[in-house]
Amino acid sequence: ALGWRTELLVNGRWVAARSDDQLSVVSPRDNSVVGCVGAASAEDVDDAVRAARAAFDDGRWADRTPSERGRTLIRFASLIERDAEELALRISLEVGKPVRDALQVELAAVVRCLRWYGEIADKITDETLPTGPDSLGLVTRGPAGGVGAVVPWNFPLTMTAWKLGPALVAGNSVVLKPAEQTPFSALELGALALEAGLPEGVLNVLPGRGPVAGEALGRHPDVDVLTFTGSVAVGRAFQRYAAESNGKRVWPELGGKSGSVILPDADIEKAARTTAWGCFYNSGQMCSASSRLIVHRDVADEVVAFAVAEAERMTPADPLDWDAPLGPVVSEHALERVLAHARRAVEQGATVAYGSVDRYDIGTGTGAYVRPMVLTGVTPDMSIAQEEVFGPVLSVLVVNDVDEAVRVANDTRFGLAAALWTNDLSAAHRVSRRLRAGTVWVNCFEEGGMSLPFGGVKASGFGRDKGAHAMDKYSDMKSTWIELAQ
Ligand code: NAP
Ligand code: MG
Repeated sequence: ALGWRTELLVNGRWVAARSDDQLSVVSPRDNSVVGCVGAASAEDVDDAVRAARAAFDDGRWADRTPSERGRTLIRFASLIERDAEELALRISLEVGKPVRDALQVELAAVVRCLRWYGEIADKITDETLPTGPDSLGLVTRGPAGGVGAVVPWNFPLTMTAWKLGPALVAGNSVVLKPAEQTPFSALELGALALEAGLPEGVLNVLPGRGPVAGEALGRHPDVDVLTFTGSVAVGRAFQRYAAESNGKRVWPELGGKSGSVILPDADIEKAARTTAWGCFYNSGQMCSASSRLIVHRDVADEVVAFAVAEAERMTPADPLDWDAPLGPVVSEHALERVLAHARRAVEQGATVAYGSVDRYDIGTGTGAYVRPMVLTGVTPDMSIAQEEVFGPVLSVLVVNDVDEAVRVANDTRFGLAAALWTNDLSAAHRVSRRLRAGTVWVNCFEEGGMSLPFGGVKASGFGRDKGAHAMDKYSDMKSTWIELAQ
């Protein structure tokens, strides 16, 4: 049996939350209570930020050599790998993610990420600038100090690792607030960091409510950097908290409404199936979900047929079933929201080519399940083409030429990702240059190792995770000018 931690991790110790508020985690798998955990109050946040500050100021982590920090991160990654099955099971129970995906996709990504940052710890270089014979100009980077990290539940530990890897390897101290749905997996991660030898106070983990603990972190005067992944509204709130407190740096990585453009010369089956998969995977709870399939009229019927076949293949099942292609969405509330989006689309003129605007029963009579939906006849003015559904609903938009495809793809306030399917080399380059998105995938979707940054433009925010570039988010740049004596 799994034990469930109920306390906060502050300054390397497990402490009870100061208020009586509790988070009760309900599994969308069967609507049963997974467990309860103390919710951090603003006072708990203050304790944790003070601990993080003290740990930073005395150099217990920041003054270690980069390679020592790197080795600790690599140890951390190995311990997560050791406990991956247990962590995957926790995530599967917390959010209903299929346990195989939790293990083979989510945990694998966490391990890869922390190991990658551990490995580059001592391979980041600073700069010497040519300032002439009588001086020496240096540009060096050091840790920013105290980092607040507020993350969502859809890839709870992957999003956390994307923040912790670069923040910790750069020498910062971190206070992490996981989403309300995923406190238990986050607390276990904190325990493994301690076991790996991360000094006390360098990683504090505070389950809590967004408008309480999240806001307190966002407004804390001793937090230097606030890194956030989540919705547009909350990302904007963090920018406001920063403006109204100490002007801390905020890195928002927000939602999306990514378009996948299929040109007639593409490998149609692969393009259609991969786009549909990219929309339905993780029950559509993906910031980068390919929720808009933008297809040339000549191949639209064929594409829809393959998308429907993919939807049929991805029928939800119990997430603890190893072969489940999809689990439930994260909660009953989320289910109602997804169905309301779909019903509105139908009212506005879309057709349900596959799926249903009603909940789905996997045979247990409970749980927040919905079958993937393929909606045809969608036009750019419909709300389903503009709003992030965060559920398995694919909108098919038919276009007449490449220019219209690009116009439709860019006709959204978001700009997280886009995809393009063509075998024409010049079209691949020309169209991908015109797509306004932080990531463009050509003839694939959701690909990418650790070395390329991930993030958006426009309302999707401007933070970038992954890659060496992410280190800059958690570093301060210093210019040192040294005058040389004769
Ligand atoms: P969310 O509601 O914005 O919540 C994200 C985090 O912010 C949670 O920890 C949440 O705490 C906290 N929060 C909520 N309200 C707050 C407030 N008033 N002040 C401070 N913190 C607050 O997002 P979500 O529903 O968890 O996640 C889905 C969103 O994340 C989608 O829009 C998705 O596109 C985006 N996302 C983006 C990326 C990316 O890389 N760009 C990746 C994954 C997801 P509670 O748990 O208490 O609400
Ligand atoms: Mg939330």
